[in-house]
Amino acid sequence: MKVTLLGTGSPLPDPNRAGPSTLVSSGSHNVVVDCGRACVMRLVGAGVMPPFVNLVLLTHLHSDHICDLNDLVTTRWITTPAAMASPLKIVGPVGTRRVVEGMLEMLALDEQYRLAHHEDLRTVGGMKIDVVELVAGDAHEHGDLVVRAFRTDHRPVEPTLGYRIEHDGKAAALAGDTIPCDELYDLCRDADVYVQTVLRDDLVKQLAQLLPGNAGRLTDILDYHSTVEQAGQTASRSGVKHLLLTHYVPAMQSGAEDEWRRVAAAHYSGPITLGPDLTYVEI
Ligand SMILES: [Zn+2]
Ligand SMILES: [Zn+2]
Repeated sequence: MKVTLLGTGSPLPDPNRAGPSTLVSSGSHNVVVDCGRACVMRLVGAGVMPPFVNLVLLTHLHSDHICDLNDLVTTRWITTPAAMASPLKIVGPVGTRRVVEGMLEMLALDEQYRLAHHEDLRTVGGMKIDVVELVAGDAHEHGDLVVRAFRTDHRPVEPTLGYRIEHDGKAAALAGDTIPCDELYDLCRDADVYVQTVLRDDLVKQLAQLLPGNAGRLTDILDYHSTVEQAGQTASRSGVKHLLLTHYVPAMQSGAEDEWRRVAAAHYSGPITLGPDLTYVEI
């Protein structure tokens, strides 16, 4: 199983980091978890063309985690050979169907234009999405891959889900945006890799001082994300084998990786990986 950080950014735009998105590849499966800004560009950078993505998991419906879902849907549809065509499956918390229906409405004119222009797309049909809404405790089988959904705590955003992807004897825990909670510990228990979106509360507070006009909005985000320290604590408490950090708030400066790693390492003695977009871990 290979876990690749497609985008390590956050809602704050950064020229070097795509928005939150992670690729889990195992056997013939390519699973995209969240679809932040420029995820398709990074997906191709990871060597996976959109037709080879067969499953999308959404942890929650915050814009930074879904804003390029439409690009993945459209690009997959128009680049998949007719013989390979199959509906894309999008799995997410309750609310996902509403988001997908709204997105398809946004894309309806484009769909018409392309169907009118490409004879073979007409034989395939329009964009077809298979939406599956999960609740905490569900286990969803996708071929020989199992996706288990766990409640996370990103309130007031509700519901939110973390996913445990199990395949070929390996387990990857993808927590999404959450503060530590009992269900998060269950999600991560003995996982081969645990991917956590994080912020640095010390740096966010400094940024808030530099940007007084946005200080309130910046400090608001502190109470519903895991800090780097908390990610280390969760990894340690749950016995995970490898900690992979992403969604750096504020954007991690190039060369600051060791400093960020030390913050987590004060709480977790296992391997910690972080870095630019396309950083990956093989388990
Ligand atoms: Zn969020
Ligand atoms: Zn986020």
